[in-house]
Amino acid sequence: MPAPTLRDRLRTQLADLKMPGALEALDDILRRADSGELAAGEAMAELLGSHIALRNQRRLQTAMRSARLPAVKTLADFDFSFQLESLHTLSFIERRENVVFLGPPGVGKTHLAVSLAVAAAEGGRRVYYATLADLITSLEDAQQAGRLSHRLRTLVFPSLMIIDEIGYLPLSRTGAMLFFQLMSRRYEHASTVLTSNKGFEDWGEVFGDDVMAAALIDRLLHHCHIVNIRGNSYRMRQHRDLVGRLAAAQPKPPAPRHRRPSRQEA
Ligand code: ADP
Ligand code: MG
Repeated sequence: MPAPTLRDRLRTQLADLKMPGALEALDDILRRADSGELAAGEAMAELLGSHIALRNQRRLQTAMRSARLPAVKTLADFDFSFQLESLHTLSFIERRENVVFLGPPGVGKTHLAVSLAVAAAEGGRRVYYATLADLITSLEDAQQAGRLSHRLRTLVFPSLMIIDEIGYLPLSRTGAMLFFQLMSRRYEHASTVLTSNKGFEDWGEVFGDDVMAAALIDRLLHHCHIVNIRGNSYRMRQHRDLVGRLAAAQPKPPAPRHRRPSRQEA
């Protein structure tokens, strides 16, 4: 019987140690070591690495089985844009429906509103973007110059209008009236996408008039897609560690009464 080769000895040892991952990788690692592709230390690291990789994979499988998960789903599999893809078909513009993005600062309301405007422009639609504050200023200027009806006609024309940042600044009474006029004209005539950091229940305060806000919301919601975005500010994500350290340095606040809302979505 011929003396066992080094390869045979290693096979026996790996089998004895119950290292099937390493056993399977052995031939390839030896070949690369023999050809000088791997130094001795690298070959050892590769061999042990193969063992660890298979062991971890098996551990995970066992943990998954014992967790009795209904199915294995990961974040990478989740299509966050799915909910919004139907909007991106732009059929809401054909139907002259509105879209309202609601949520705290930094969660992507402007980003998503602008993405709809880009898609609409690519589809050959006329698009107009303004923050509410700028829009009101332009209407007030037009009114003072005696050109309000001309300005309103111009603003009714775009088949998609984005009105961003409702709720950051309260409006003057005239401002609110002008905005109401514009929205009444666009109602059932062309689509408007609005973003707000305030829930509809607070719009009375924003517009300085509960009755007008209610009438506005009534028209707006008649044909409307509401996208509620919850969660943490994307802008603040780099500062989260800092915020965490600052919070740790402070005396503990009382426990929150509500559970923390989860990231995303309508
Ligand atoms: P909001 O209008 O809700 O205050 P923005 O749309 O301005 O928030 O988002 C803040 C910044 O973070 C923007 O630069 C935006 O492009 C980015 N952002 C927000 N959410 C996401 C996200 N989910 N993926 C990629 N970028 C995002
Ligand atoms: Mg914004």
